[in-house]
Amino acid sequence: MRNVVIIGSGCAGLTAAIYAARANLKPLVLEGHEPGGQLSMTTHVENFPGFPDGILGPELIENMKKQAARFGAEFKSGAITEVDFGKRPFKLCANGETIEAKTVIVAAGASARLLGLKGEKELIGRGLSTCATCDGYFFRSKPIAVVGGGDSAMEEAGFLSRYASRVYLIHRRNEFRASKIMIDRAKANEKIEFLTPYVVQEIDVSSGLVSGVKLRNTLTNAERRIDLDGVFVAIGHDPNTAVFKTKLDMDQNGYLIAKHGSLTNVPGVFIAGDVQDHRYRQAVTAAGSGCMAAIDAEKFLEEHKDS
Ligand code: NAP
Repeated sequence: MRNVVIIGSGCAGLTAAIYAARANLKPLVLEGHEPGGQLSMTTHVENFPGFPDGILGPELIENMKKQAARFGAEFKSGAITEVDFGKRPFKLCANGETIEAKTVIVAAGASARLLGLKGEKELIGRGLSTCATCDGYFFRSKPIAVVGGGDSAMEEAGFLSRYASRVYLIHRRNEFRASKIMIDRAKANEKIEFLTPYVVQEIDVSSGLVSGVKLRNTLTNAERRIDLDGVFVAIGHDPNTAVFKTKLDMDQNGYLIAKHGSLTNVPGVFIAGDVQDHRYRQAVTAAGSGCMAAIDAEKFLEEHKDS
């Protein structure tokens, strides 16, 4: 029987693990589908306090993991397939094993969205990617595209311009969601060419690999084709909450609803990070909410130690 099981090993889950471990609760962290979460797929993080020169996302995550392990947190790979929050102790199924927990912190994060094109999923690893940091290196001296108009798209385009011969930034509107500084940086980059307002209609494949995209102008309906070797989709994320449907309160987009900090509709189950935050979605806010969830779990265990 575990005092605290933390679902997710991103910034929120690992911060919760640090706090729970320092409270002597020996938390178990279930690492999930994407160990390390979104930070492990990013490059320079320049806005996490305490790093005046910035830090690489994977390094920040590795440091957090070491910090949690140093105080006694344990880690297990695998993702949750089923939960029973009906009564305490809670039951969690992962890797065919059932784990019992007095409290649970859900910090399962959010996953990258895809465009919804036919055969798109099968192209992941064959020229289509949602992670510039992971796959940029494969496109040295090759033309590629980044799809999206938010900060992620701008950041990925800049990062990929280090490798690629040309980066087409394809966005469905002429206006951008990204912050001005990120847009200005991308526009000043000679390797990046903005293509707006365009949607990707089709991804061409040749010998099993991405070879081009067919685009449609959303104002004129004019079509054009571009030869390229890679497509990076950077159009936002969806919360990883399918397994909690009907168990925890969520909004129409699947984001879990937090009450009074990290509390949920199930006493003893707490939430932290992007799984409950579609507004701020920052590493530092995720870390802060992980801290809150661990403190709430600790208080709950103290208040229910006889039950
Ligand atoms: P986002 O801000 O939600 O932007 C998603 C973009 O993708 C939007 O431009 C959207 O177009 C487009 N899009 C969505 N669905 C699409 C579809 N099916 N087809 C084509 N385009 C589609 O997501 P994000 O860029 O991942 O950023 C998420 C959060 O993280 C933001 O708060 C952002 O500021 C933050 N962030 C910050 C940094 C940084 O500061 N270094 C870096 C990355 C992310 P529309 O605009 O037309 O809806």
